[in-house]
Amino acid sequence: MSQKIITRFAPSPTGFLHAGAYRTAVFSYLFTKHHNGSFVLRIEDTDTARNKKEYEDDILDSLQWLGIHHDEFFRQSERKEIYKKYIETMIEKGFAYVSKEEIKKEGDRDSVIRFKNPNKKVSFHDLIRGDIEFDTTDLGDFIIAKDFDEPIFHLVVVIDDFEMGITHVIRGEDHISNTPRQILIQQAIGAPTPAYAHIPLVLATDRTKLSKRKGALSLTEYRRRGYLKQAILNYIAMVGWNPGDDKEILSETDLINLFSLERVQKGAAIFDEVKLKWLNKEYIKKMPEEEWKQEILKRLPEEILECSSFEERKEKVFPIIFDRISIFGEVEEMSEQGELSYFFITPTELETRDILPPEKLRKGKDVTSTSTANILTKVIELLESIPETSFTKEGTREIVFPYADEQGRGIVLWPMRYALSGREKSPDPFELCDILGKNETIFRIKKAIEVLTQ
Ligand code: GLU
Repeated sequence: MSQKIITRFAPSPTGFLHAGAYRTAVFSYLFTKHHNGSFVLRIEDTDTARNKKEYEDDILDSLQWLGIHHDEFFRQSERKEIYKKYIETMIEKGFAYVSKEEIKKEGDRDSVIRFKNPNKKVSFHDLIRGDIEFDTTDLGDFIIAKDFDEPIFHLVVVIDDFEMGITHVIRGEDHISNTPRQILIQQAIGAPTPAYAHIPLVLATDRTKLSKRKGALSLTEYRRRGYLKQAILNYIAMVGWNPGDDKEILSETDLINLFSLERVQKGAAIFDEVKLKWLNKEYIKKMPEEEWKQEILKRLPEEILECSSFEERKEKVFPIIFDRISIFGEVEEMSEQGELSYFFITPTELETRDILPPEKLRKGKDVTSTSTANILTKVIELLESIPETSFTKEGTREIVFPYADEQGRGIVLWPMRYALSGREKSPDPFELCDILGKNETIFRIKKAIEVLTQ
């Protein structure tokens, strides 16, 4: 292509940026960068009743975060004079007229500006959907402005695409039905018709409309939950597009190099949060150790960070957290659900009774509190025999495991593990011995025996 490619992303600031919208931004951006073109961000804020500054800020922040940088920026609300001139000229030339009518919904207004429809067939070639033809007769003389100062969507889109030299309009397929009107306006103002690429809708995994419940969170929300921008960019680029092989992990540079509209599918695209999470984890795995540790650290609560055991145990706990999470926000979830504090915080006397109820410590047929207490007493005896320096995962396992084998693994290992973590699920008891160290391990098991024998 010899002509310089110019595309635009034209969001209306009437809500937070959702998957369908930022996917459009990503496709336009990748296409533009692939062709060394220019990317315009245009805020379509003519709907004053629904626009909000916070939504515009959200759009700007979100795109910036994702790395979708624009070359030019416009706000339609600042271009009213330009639109007015076009309306005047269109009326002068007979392409539009002021129509006196009673419009109940529009308050006091008694006229609108209508486009004089030449009632003809309009056809265009859509880069994704192929040739499309419409008979515009049914559209009648449609409204293009409520007033000279209040142009509506179809008119401003056409004027702006023309003035900004947009060569390719990449937008959601819900805009296909708007295209014939827009082409008629282009013809009236002497604007070329840009190339159109109407991209498929984004649906939830059950092929219904995306909604919050179905994983369609705003970009801001994904960001808040600790998703990585590389993962989001990579994932969203593949919602409705694929590189033609089974490669799934693609950097921004890869995406720019590989992206083409030819490989955008026609059918609806599926947004699958499970897949996004998986991809996020793949990116986390690629992070340098120091970086992911920092990310975990940032999300740990004060009560853990201030714990005297924190420095000593953190290096052993970080890899456990790392294995369990797919997004960094899950660190906060883990800590809220009490899945982290037991690594660092010794339960108080009072808490012990809550955390270690005898019925949770006992496990197995014919097992009583007394028999469990006896088993734990034997476990302490074995652990006491291990020198501090060998009190590791392997060291403790070597000594305690034969006893567990002899008695029945669950009967020994369950209460031992439960005494150490106070949780139904936690790392195995030897890993916990390793993290907690000899004194703390023995202390906690003794507490459990106390509870069992009271
Ligand atoms: N402002 C329109 C929207 O948010 C997009 C217009 C267009 O891409 O032509 O749906």
